[in-house]
Amino acid sequence: MCIFCKIVKGEIPADRVYEDDKYMAFKDINPKAPVHILIIPKEHIGYLSEIDESNKYIIGDMAIIANKIAKNTGIDKSGYRIVINNGPDSGQEVFHIHMHLLGGKKMVFKA
Ligand code: 5GP
Ligand code: ZN
Repeated sequence: MCIFCKIVKGEIPADRVYEDDKYMAFKDINPKAPVHILIIPKEHIGYLSEIDESNKYIIGDMAIIANKIAKNTGIDKSGYRIVINNGPDSGQEVFHIHMHLLGGKKMVFKA
């Protein structure tokens, strides 16, 4: 089982900030910004590249959750970035799809 599936099951602790029946969000263990939250579906999907017509709603749902968390953490006005890494060149390290929510400072790297 992957590390994020273990977090979903409660087998590995995580600092949860949001949960419903399909999704969870928790603080990144190695934050790159003052606010750095990971939003995941509870269902195991390894990669963004597995998103297709059948499951595209997951991306929208995660974006809505990211917006809610941005409001709750007070970064909705200052701005934030969402990132989904996919595959080797992106640096993806955990192979369970996740959306990074980053904010609370100016982003140095502008895509
Ligand atoms: P990726 O590089 O795959 O897009 O992002 C994986 C993220 O997961 C990294 O930012 C890393 O710090 C975070 N991470 C890895 N293992 C754990 C963990 O066990 N708990 C939490 N909360 N974050 C983790
Ligand atoms: Zn998983």
